[in-house]
Amino acid sequence: MAITNAYLKGVYDNLLKLYPEQKEFLQAVDEVLESLQPVIEKRPDLVESGIIERIVEPERVILFRVSWVDDNGKIQVNRGFRVQFNSAIGPYKGGCRFHPSVNLSVMKFLGFEQIFKNSLTGLPMGGAKGGSDFDPKGKSDAEVMRFCQSFMTELAKHIGPDTDVPAGDIGVGAREIGYMFGQYKRLQNEFTGVLTGKSLFSGGSLARTEATGYGACYFCSEMLAANGKSYEGKKVIISGSGNVATYACQKATQLGATVIAMSDSNGYIYDPNGIDYKIIQEIKEVKRARIKTYLDYVPTAKYTEGCSGIWTVPCDIAMPCATQNEINLDSAKALIANGVIAVGEGANMPSTPEAIAAFQEAGVLFAPAKACNAGGVATSGLEMCQNSMRLSWTFEEVDERLKGIMKNIYKAASDAAEAAGQPGNLVVGANIAGFLKVAEAMKWQGVCY
Ligand code: NDP
Repeated sequence: MAITNAYLKGVYDNLLKLYPEQKEFLQAVDEVLESLQPVIEKRPDLVESGIIERIVEPERVILFRVSWVDDNGKIQVNRGFRVQFNSAIGPYKGGCRFHPSVNLSVMKFLGFEQIFKNSLTGLPMGGAKGGSDFDPKGKSDAEVMRFCQSFMTELAKHIGPDTDVPAGDIGVGAREIGYMFGQYKRLQNEFTGVLTGKSLFSGGSLARTEATGYGACYFCSEMLAANGKSYEGKKVIISGSGNVATYACQKATQLGATVIAMSDSNGYIYDPNGIDYKIIQEIKEVKRARIKTYLDYVPTAKYTEGCSGIWTVPCDIAMPCATQNEINLDSAKALIANGVIAVGEGANMPSTPEAIAAFQEAGVLFAPAKACNAGGVATSGLEMCQNSMRLSWTFEEVDERLKGIMKNIYKAASDAAEAAGQPGNLVVGANIAGFLKVAEAMKWQGVCY
């Protein structure tokens, strides 16, 4: 499919002219605009209000220098970003990514996706994303701390509990959130819920760490159940071995599946007896080591160099939980040839457009990222709620709410797909359901951005 509606195509072509180098951003916009065709054809009021032209431009982009001193006393300089994309339905909300591949295109694609994802959760959160091209890998704790403090020194001027509430993402876990939270508190002299993913000792929410991985499995369970299937007895492969992947592994196992392969950016492990998430947790969160270390714990497992090979491992359910565009057409074809029945995106935009089309043509159940991985930000929303009320819910309470939210997101996406005349197409459904709420709010608020 392509954008055929002349108005939407005009908006897209203009972006292409303005930002030809922003490939990831254009890819994300292309998918959303393509999905919105049936809506725009029925809603001339949205065209008149310029909603589409406005929604594809961030309300604000903040770009800044992050200087810090390494352990050898040498001055290092990185680039910091915060893209405050849309605040129509609530304060900006979205994670921060620290990875050498971070650039404006990646930040804008993630911020754009976040608008619709946050809307799908049903909670009042606008869309944003931030980060830096800093690589925490191989850095000492002291270096990471100095970097985070410098990053927050600038970011603090632009965020606040009612303005913009960042969280974690690739390369930003509990350690980094802690350093940033400490620096924000020191600068502003206030203890507020300005970040989510905080430690339990500092206003964090139980189940936030697990939320994205758990939520992805809850969403997939709904999708599977609607098609008479479940995780029970299925072989699952999960790419990545970070936050999302680890807890997707735990939940899929609890739901009766066997997780047979996981990866990092160097390679993947294969363990037909089922990967124990606790080992991954120890390798990644405690030792900060590579996934091949898994063989020290389970010598019968196999390690293969190169991360894309994981998609050639025969499985029933594939859950990409590492990074964008990690499943290309070749990987999709390999999965389909091996009989995959469902794909659940834990990472953001992990499948290329060609891969998504191949899955859909082959009748593979496909859970798109902005719906499937919304459990993380939803639970961040619950963390904000608990902070405002100055109380803490139990793990079970948060988990129950998360389950309810993922169920509602599945229903919203599925109903919207049906209403658009494309039943089962959750890509179209999630885009439309996420968009409509934001569009109505933008229209109601007038031309303020
Ligand atoms: P982490 O930093 O905890 O883990 C990322 C994992 O992906 C690591 O195992 C990393 O391996 C691997 N990885 C990174 N790049 C590649 C690559 N090119 N090929 C193979 N593996 C790679 O990040 P998260 O788990 O938090 O995030 C993973 C994905 O989920 C991202 O797309 C993120 O945007 C998305 N997401 C995260 C949420 C959250 O709550 N954390 C919420 C919603 C979405 P290595 O160590 O070798 O780099």
